[in-house]
Amino acid sequence: MTINIAIIGAGPAGYYAAEAALKHWGGAAKIDIIDRLPTPYGLIRAGVAPDHQSIKAVTKRYEATNLGAGVRFVGNVMIGRDVSVAELLALYDAVVLSIGAPHDKPVGIPGDDLPGVIGSAAFVGWYNGHPDFADLPVPLSHHGAAIIGNGNVAIDCARILAKTVPELAVSDIAQHAVDALQHSAIRDIHIIGRRGPHQASFTTKEAGELGHLERAHPVVRPGDLPPLEADAALEPGHRKMVTHLRGFAGLERGDKPVTINFEFFRRPVAVEGNGKAERLIVETTRLEDGPEGSRAVGTGELHAIPCGLVIACIGYRTSTIEGVPYAPELGRFPCDDKGRIFPGLYASGWARRGPSGTIGTNRPDGFSVIDAIAADVATGSGLVAGRGGDASAALDALLAERGVGATDFGQWQRLDAAEVTRARPGAPREKLVRVADMLATLFR
Ligand code: NAP
Repeated sequence: MTINIAIIGAGPAGYYAAEAALKHWGGAAKIDIIDRLPTPYGLIRAGVAPDHQSIKAVTKRYEATNLGAGVRFVGNVMIGRDVSVAELLALYDAVVLSIGAPHDKPVGIPGDDLPGVIGSAAFVGWYNGHPDFADLPVPLSHHGAAIIGNGNVAIDCARILAKTVPELAVSDIAQHAVDALQHSAIRDIHIIGRRGPHQASFTTKEAGELGHLERAHPVVRPGDLPPLEADAALEPGHRKMVTHLRGFAGLERGDKPVTINFEFFRRPVAVEGNGKAERLIVETTRLEDGPEGSRAVGTGELHAIPCGLVIACIGYRTSTIEGVPYAPELGRFPCDDKGRIFPGLYASGWARRGPSGTIGTNRPDGFSVIDAIAADVATGSGLVAGRGGDASAALDALLAERGVGATDFGQWQRLDAAEVTRARPGAPREKLVRVADMLATLFR
């Protein structure tokens, strides 16, 4: 029996699902990994920080999956525009939505629509060369920048704003971002956390890195730190992260011109300015215990943080797709604990569980979604029937009829080689950031 699976989204969640399907069905699995961009690897290419190259090495594993028998990359095809989910469900035995969570959660405070307020999906996409954000206006002429959120994305954004051009140039950061950042006037970076150091979701390595930047200096207000003995209750990894924050509270400033100020116990309440962001108004908070742990409660005490750039790093939402149920309150597809939306249609990765975890967290997700598909095939539930046929050929015919120029893995390999050849000295690659330029290179 052949099982035809369409995986939508060529990021980590998509590739781990493909890997799990190959492990389960071996040569009987025929998998099309479809992506709206001509390039594979999703968040590895456009989300992981450009100066964290070791994390990107995992693409070798995805490449091996793609080069194995039975797997195709089908790029430059957008589900909902070029082909519908209903059409895919009619061709394939199972469709897995691994489309991530590419939209910023809105901050929801007055002034959050002012120019200068952007979300981390946009800012990260801009410096990582995602085609959607190549023309994002990023105001860098004010001395202040406020970054809302106490997760690793906030740290990534602060680090990129704080690094020198030589520190950035040896990464695969987009050239347009280096060009803009070299003229940046930003000197005071504020990382705003509505709760305290113990509640921050930074990881140890990411927090620690801020202590080793060439021109930037992290600052923690000693009064924001809980008593030292309270750290004993923390999980060891988290305790180490808090130890970094304690170290930052005792650091001599030296002559570094840029400060990264951790503003714990501050809740954003408004962005103000004359036609653009000029200050973020924050309210001091205190913690109150609730049924789901501690929550931040405003004290009424307000402060203004001067800034021309506000980056909200407060979480993401999955795209909606016609014909697929969506849970707006969760910002993702509603599914059971294995990723089943309904038999035949599944979700994996951030589209299934929301924007949390590391790249590796998507691996068990991929295996559990394949378990669900296998169970549905075994019981003959719903659309999953193991109906056979050549779904890939049928998709190609549909795309050709609609004039959609899909890209394949061989073309990606050519683009990959071209980007590596173009790289700045010491950098791993220089990305093409416009789809038209990618296609011109791919089809040359
Ligand atoms: P995150 O870790 O969930 O952090 C989101 C932050 O936003 C939290 O501090 C949260 O505060 C805050 N927040 C949410 N709504 C807010 C609001 N309305 N006002 C103020 N603050 C608000 O998410 P993330 O940083 O976006 O990262 C997403 C996932 O990717 C995480 O699992 C992260 O570890 C991972 N990641 C990993 C790396 C790496 O390993 N190098 C790099 C980047 C991202 P509360 O806690 O109070 O809700």
